[in-house]
Amino acid sequence: MRPVLLQPLFATLSSLTGIGDKMRDRLAALLGGRAAAAAAADSPLSAPLPRLIDLLHFPPQTIIDRRGHYTIATLPAQKIASLEVCIGRHKAPQQSRKNSPYKISAHDETGEMDLVFFRARGDWLQRQFPPGEKRFISGKIEYFNGLPAMIHPDYSVKPDERRTIPPVEPVYPLIAGLTNRLIAKAMTQALQRLPDLPEWLGADLLKRENFPSYTGALRQLHRPHRPEDIEPTSPARRRLAYDELLAGQIALRLIRRQNRRGQGANLPPGNSYTQKLRAALPFKLTAAQEQGFTEISADLARKQRMLRLLQGDVGSGKTVIALLAMAQAAESGAQAALMVPTEILAHQHYAALAPMAEQAGLRAVLLTGREKGNKRAVILQQIAQGEVQFIIGTHALFQADVLYHRLALAVIDEQHRFGVEQRLQLLAKGQGVNILVMTATPIPRSLVLTAYGDMDISTLREKPQGRKPVITALLSMAKMGLLLASVRQALGRGDKIYWICPLVEGSEKSDLTAATERFAELQALLSARIGLVHGKMPAAEKDAVMAAFKSGAIRLLVATTVVEVGVDVTDASIMIIEHAERFGLAQLHQLRGRVGRGEKVSSCTLLYKEPLSATARARLGIMRETEDGFRLAEEDLRLRGEGDILGLRQSGLPDFCFADSRLHRDLMEIAAKNARLLVQNEAIWATEKGEALRLLLCLFRQDNALRLLQSG
Ligand code: ADP
Ligand code: MG
Repeated sequence: MRPVLLQPLFATLSSLTGIGDKMRDRLAALLGGRAAAAAAADSPLSAPLPRLIDLLHFPPQTIIDRRGHYTIATLPAQKIASLEVCIGRHKAPQQSRKNSPYKISAHDETGEMDLVFFRARGDWLQRQFPPGEKRFISGKIEYFNGLPAMIHPDYSVKPDERRTIPPVEPVYPLIAGLTNRLIAKAMTQALQRLPDLPEWLGADLLKRENFPSYTGALRQLHRPHRPEDIEPTSPARRRLAYDELLAGQIALRLIRRQNRRGQGANLPPGNSYTQKLRAALPFKLTAAQEQGFTEISADLARKQRMLRLLQGDVGSGKTVIALLAMAQAAESGAQAALMVPTEILAHQHYAALAPMAEQAGLRAVLLTGREKGNKRAVILQQIAQGEVQFIIGTHALFQADVLYHRLALAVIDEQHRFGVEQRLQLLAKGQGVNILVMTATPIPRSLVLTAYGDMDISTLREKPQGRKPVITALLSMAKMGLLLASVRQALGRGDKIYWICPLVEGSEKSDLTAATERFAELQALLSARIGLVHGKMPAAEKDAVMAAFKSGAIRLLVATTVVEVGVDVTDASIMIIEHAERFGLAQLHQLRGRVGRGEKVSSCTLLYKEPLSATARARLGIMRETEDGFRLAEEDLRLRGEGDILGLRQSGLPDFCFADSRLHRDLMEIAAKNARLLVQNEAIWATEKGEALRLLLCLFRQDNALRLLQSG
């Protein structure tokens, strides 16, 4: 399937001189998950092998600028300098002191310096630096006792060969066992294998943006002449970013077309269940909820398969919209599944929705990993026979032995916890399953396209009335005493409190220890009933604790971030978050969203450990300023970069080589528009331009898109 023209770029890195298996593996680790994922898609069974193209798509981080020419008297400390010197006396270390350096003195008319070598061979140095001759050298300058020195010059050539020294060198991010020189050498070879490629971008765009060609841009990026050449704003970098975005957008558009091609189960609105359900609701829908449901209802009634994202801040009331949509599916005698990421959440949704469903004359079941044996067999039978309309659960919902009578709608709550893979598995459980994805993680506008370009989007901007603002305060952990006093008071008043324990980077186990220790400590300090809930607890125990917190038997709940997503205890009014500086803004926002749901004035205390970095301080400051999840997401993106937008890398957002959604927003918009036009224009794929675009898709590893194009 891969075009012949591109074969050379898909050779493995071991085909380069100087790259053995060991170096190849190190490069694989460096080039990281992206190359590995792409390679795994090539051949899921073999170990990921990075290709030349992965190396070429690895941009330098900074440059070494050798253009600064100096005399010895003006040499800058700790900087790269290039200069001409006259070689003087060699000072070899004494035989007995092998570890001291070999020094060569050098001078020009302004002063003297040393060239310093460790563990170097004297005869080799004698040949390279013959006393009395001139050399042009380049390297980093250090001062010892007021005398400048260059330790292991990067270059030293005869004065008339100085042009062979690159004035500017790219510097790549490294990991242990790799050197910049090795990468540079590999890159040089990879660049030589770049074939001439036809242009896939339109002439207007090239002209307007002053874009070089794709190959030209790669050459410029890896052979910069000036520092500006590698900046994200340089035409070369922007060209590559645009290519990457365009390839991604074309792929999303093709997947979208494919998804809709299969007819959706046709689920027109009806008047029995939906009306009864509305009547059973203890509140009136907000205008935003009505609008959202109208959009979904229309999608369901259409022949095309629904693929919609419902985006709404924490507490904006997404669940009830899902419930109405599920009722609409039931009007046609179909089943609807609601999939959530955690058992706690599944349980909670079931507890809230089942009674309402019942009032409307519908039956719901709960299916998680916990339902086992006989009980599970009964549930599976009810699902298979169509005795139940609503199936609520975790990923247990798409396990092999779960057969649906007639699944026509899948609602996926808190989408960022699920991958596209899981979405597809659920889809396969029915014919023309309509999909509604819900997320409380506000996604900045600039990222919506890259992540969800294949979906229609409904957004709930308004929250149900009567929500009181949550008062947010920052407090140093050093002042824990103050906090404990007010916690005691609050417990005395009968308030309910969440106490979230720190996220310990990289290890769930230490999270757990921290939470367990804090639990014991608080239990000793406060004479109240305290609960502990964490992800590793047996499910039944988890439920019992949550139920006790809901009922008020427990009024302080120590928890790890398991409560982050979706948990609804309406009368909890105090949220305390330890080590708030370790959380992403979006996560803090989710946690804070657990309070402020009822009548009481709520508060959120962000405990931080000093010293705070400037960024951490700014982030926590924004938490105090606003409760608008969309604004928080934008700020998070601005402050931390998209990699961390959700606190952890679980977002399903694409991982870019060149594009940066903060700096290349304009390109994103153009790419989205052009991708739409290109995918609509079926004729173009049979032309030369279409062939060129296939090269683009191949280069950026959009193999899914290529497959879809081939199947027509
Ligand atoms: P989320 O969008 O975060 O999933 P939920 O669906 O859990 O929010 O709703 C949050 C709370 O708001 C729930 O207790 C729910 O019953 C309540 N709620 C939802 N819609 C309304 C409304 N229109 N008026 C009043 N309360 C509502
Ligand atoms: Mg929810």
